[in-house]
Amino acid sequence: MSLLDKFMKGRAELAMPGPDGLISRKSFLQAAGSAVAAGVATGMVASCQTQGQSPTYPVPTSGTYKAPTGQQVPSSPPYSPPANVPAQSDTPIELEAWKSDADRQSGPVPTPLPNDERVGYALVGLGHLTLEELLPAFGACKKSKPVALVSGNPEKLQKVARQYGIKPESCYSYDTYDKLKDNPEVQVIYIVLPNSMHAEYTIRGAQAGKHILCEKPMANSSAECRAMIDACQKANRKLMIAYRIQYEPYNRYVREQLQKNEFGKPKFVDAYNCQSSANPNHWRHIKALAGGGALPDIGLYCLNTTRFILGEEPTEVFAYTASDPANPLFKEVEEVCSWQMKFPSGVIANCATHYNVHDARQYRVMTERGWYELGNAYAYEGQKLTTSRADGPIVRQENVSITPKNQFATEMDHFSDCILKDKDPYTPGQEGLQDQQIMEAIYQSAREGRPVKLPPVDQKDRFRGPEPNLT
Ligand code: NAD
Repeated sequence: MSLLDKFMKGRAELAMPGPDGLISRKSFLQAAGSAVAAGVATGMVASCQTQGQSPTYPVPTSGTYKAPTGQQVPSSPPYSPPANVPAQSDTPIELEAWKSDADRQSGPVPTPLPNDERVGYALVGLGHLTLEELLPAFGACKKSKPVALVSGNPEKLQKVARQYGIKPESCYSYDTYDKLKDNPEVQVIYIVLPNSMHAEYTIRGAQAGKHILCEKPMANSSAECRAMIDACQKANRKLMIAYRIQYEPYNRYVREQLQKNEFGKPKFVDAYNCQSSANPNHWRHIKALAGGGALPDIGLYCLNTTRFILGEEPTEVFAYTASDPANPLFKEVEEVCSWQMKFPSGVIANCATHYNVHDARQYRVMTERGWYELGNAYAYEGQKLTTSRADGPIVRQENVSITPKNQFATEMDHFSDCILKDKDPYTPGQEGLQDQQIMEAIYQSAREGRPVKLPPVDQKDRFRGPEPNLT
């Protein structure tokens, strides 16, 4: 049935009499509106067929509506312009276009799955990331929904459950965590706990028969990472590490340009991720819980994103770490870490991370004939991309603006897609293990004051799964 036929049929149904044999005023008005629309649609098709030009058609005439107060207010008859409504749940509705190609086009229209077809998530740990970012991000998800919560604080658990419509029987404590096994609504457990707890809760979650999405850093040691990968493999469950940057449009754009050698080959990367903290009692400052200081928490973004945009693995690292001995924040973990990585293509990356300077998160990739600079590169939002290249006697510097996406929603929906279609995630456990091995080499280099070699990896994107479909 053509778009026009569907449209006319819908309109005819609107004007059908009710059980009392009468056509309601509302139906009448809608049908009247449809008469205008039908003329519009017919005219549009005829216009397209005969002239091959943009259609022109009359705007439905305005009338008035009597408000309950008795006032007459201007109104127009209801009118639905033609729309293509595919039956498949993952194919977007196509609306009538109106923008010229002089402006950025909107759409495609989001295609959320019906609620009962979405993948159910249990969130473990109701801290900053879960409450401030992840639970709100489900509102932007198309394939994922929160169905269970795990927390050690009953009051917080109850309040958050009510805020997000989680059933009381789907609220768990750390003691009852393993009972998630008996909750068929939960397909994924999302681990959002201090780093030292990632391994245990991943392994127990896989043993409970659930797929695991685990926050970065994957764990505090490569031995723990291997145990997590093994446990998920044995349980035949998927494991993904929540590297949101690898699903973020600006960082993906830079990677794409570099892979195409758009400005010639990449030669040098300068990356830093810095923030300031103030609470020495927080787990981030306790080595047994955090595994380290700035490096595994935020420096990891420089490491993981550089590997991601280049698609290759470092063969050698050289690092310094330092801490102010008088500052109680840094009794156990490093304040600053600065390191260099050598890549097989010859690229050198210069990276730094700091826990005691004002917020700064950016990188620049220098290539043979230009550079890409991404401001707020690792932030939740607000990326700013500038590129520079020579064009004869001119140097062109451009600001590239890309429609932003909620990074957490994109990442969760990618994992849900993998579960729905039985695919491997783009950032599996092996990707987290590789970062952990490199961080161990970075710490070793800082301790020993010498470069540390890493096993060569020839294959590009060796530790990533198939390219994600993020539309
Ligand atoms: P947070 O301290 O705000 O929350 C941690 C949660 O764990 C709290 O609810 C706390 O009650 C619970 N918890 C359970 N046992 C604990 C213990 N022994 N000590 C301390 N807390 C305990 O931390 P967060 O910032 O939400 O970070 C959680 C995880 O998410 C970390 O692994 C962190 O690296 C990661 N993270 C990722 C991003 C990202 O952008 N992907 C951003 C922030 C944090």
